[in-house]
Amino acid sequence: EVGRRQRLLDAHKIAAEFYQRNLYTPAAREAQKFLGARGFDPQATRTFGVGFAPRGWDHLLKYLRNKGFTDEELEATGMFSRGNRGLYDRFRGRIMWPIRGIAGEVIGFGARKLYDDDQGPKYLNTPETQLYKKSQVLYGLDLAKRNIAKKKQIVVVEGYTDVMAAHLAGIDTAVATCGTAFGAGHIKVVRRLISDDGSGGEVIFTFDGDAAGQKAALHAFEEDQKFVAQTYVAVAKDGMDPCDLRLARGDAAVRSLVANRRPLFEFALQATIGNYDLQTLEGRVRAMRAAAPILAGIKDRALRPAYIREVAGWLGIDTDEVQRAVTYAVNHPQ
Ligand code: ATP
Ligand code: MN
Ligand code: MN
Ligand code: MN
Repeated sequence: EVGRRQRLLDAHKIAAEFYQRNLYTPAAREAQKFLGARGFDPQATRTFGVGFAPRGWDHLLKYLRNKGFTDEELEATGMFSRGNRGLYDRFRGRIMWPIRGIAGEVIGFGARKLYDDDQGPKYLNTPETQLYKKSQVLYGLDLAKRNIAKKKQIVVVEGYTDVMAAHLAGIDTAVATCGTAFGAGHIKVVRRLISDDGSGGEVIFTFDGDAAGQKAALHAFEEDQKFVAQTYVAVAKDGMDPCDLRLARGDAAVRSLVANRRPLFEFALQATIGNYDLQTLEGRVRAMRAAAPILAGIKDRALRPAYIREVAGWLGIDTDEVQRAVTYAVNHPQ
């Protein structure tokens, strides 16, 4: 229903302006401090429309009711929760990032907890609504889309602050998924921007070095075969995310992170092999067995034997031996 969709978009636009205005009130001192400490000056926060949801249960609720929205419409925006006594503000005492569709229209919010003693998760997002489908949304795409199409490159980072840091550092193709793994729905969106004609294009994933980041990288690996583009991984040695990296070592460090990307298969293989003690023959054989399913997953006819030779070299094991392990893995999928 067209009228309905427009009403929800209108509510989001007004809410984004409300949150943004709140960032410049005395109650938002902590929020301003937080953003400043993250390396974001007022111009950066304005570019991304960052705002602040004050503490309290009905600031936005009252504001939007006064603007003529019905409770039924407000509930459908996902910006409110329903309790015994009706609707209340979903986002309270949080830094607010408006999440925009590809044309720049606000369709939801990502919100970070500001006060450690508050309840709820560190990050809280808009739930699934008529406008907000998290399996397809890429934060920052409205700003990055032209650069992505021009450079045939997309840099996928983990968080809102990482997108901001990347753009400020000159990585203007950066986007983030919103609290979900990069999946088939995102690939579809990316394909529309990076041509599907086999002429190339790069998807570069940057993740934390922490366990969650590693998991995300390996999940991306599962999606890789659906990409026509070349897939790379860029992970900082000390596990810093782009936002931390920029704070610690500046814009140039963020650019080198991306410049020093590694092919996804190389990354996945090295990460797996790195779990074993390569000083011992037993360790090297176990590493080979662990690497075999990854090698078996390489569909490219020329790439697979090349990686098999590479792994054999790393492990000091005969190429034929590795090839046999891969053949076994192909015939015995996990
Ligand atoms: P910060 O830098 O804000 O302290 P972080 O870098 O430690 O956070 P991670 O736990 O690494 O955050 O999560 C990476 C990103 O994933 C977050 O910045 C956020 O954008 C997103 N995210 C994490 N948890 C959630 C969640 N529960 N809902 C939605 N998005 C989330
Ligand atoms: Mn993390
Ligand atoms: Mn971070
Ligand atoms: Mn992080």
